[in-house]
Amino acid sequence: MGCIFCEIINRGQKGDIIFETKELVAFKDIHPKAPVHILVVPRQHIVSLVDTDASRREILGNLFSAAADIARMQGIAESGFKVVMNVGRGGGQIIDHLHVHVLGGWKEEDNRELP
Ligand code: AMP
Ligand code: ZN
Repeated sequence: MGCIFCEIINRGQKGDIIFETKELVAFKDIHPKAPVHILVVPRQHIVSLVDTDASRREILGNLFSAAADIARMQGIAESGFKVVMNVGRGGGQIIDHLHVHVLGGWKEEDNRELP
């Protein structure tokens, strides 16, 4: 079965891409759980954090530093934001392609339910 994130990365599927580098792509979550909700995804198809080891340190580091770049770019670095990674079905992971969620931009009264 095809991977929806690989399809977005390879432009086969429409995605709202806001940032990309040689190693990763960031796009808007289709069902945002926050005023700003961006997914940061390595170009390489890795299923989850459990499928990584020390040889993937660079990719994992890149995901987090891109999350900081995106937060600055989206104007939520000052106010603060959440970086969330769901791992496996029991951890709430629905899409089997490694990704982090960058969430922020809430107002005081907003519900802050995580993805
Ligand atoms: P997770 O539960 O961590 O696997 O999160 C997967 C996220 O991908 C969810 O927040 C979905 O709303 C989001 N999502 C699913 N399909 C798409 C898509 N085609 N474009 C953008 N985001 C998507
Ligand atoms: Zn994939």
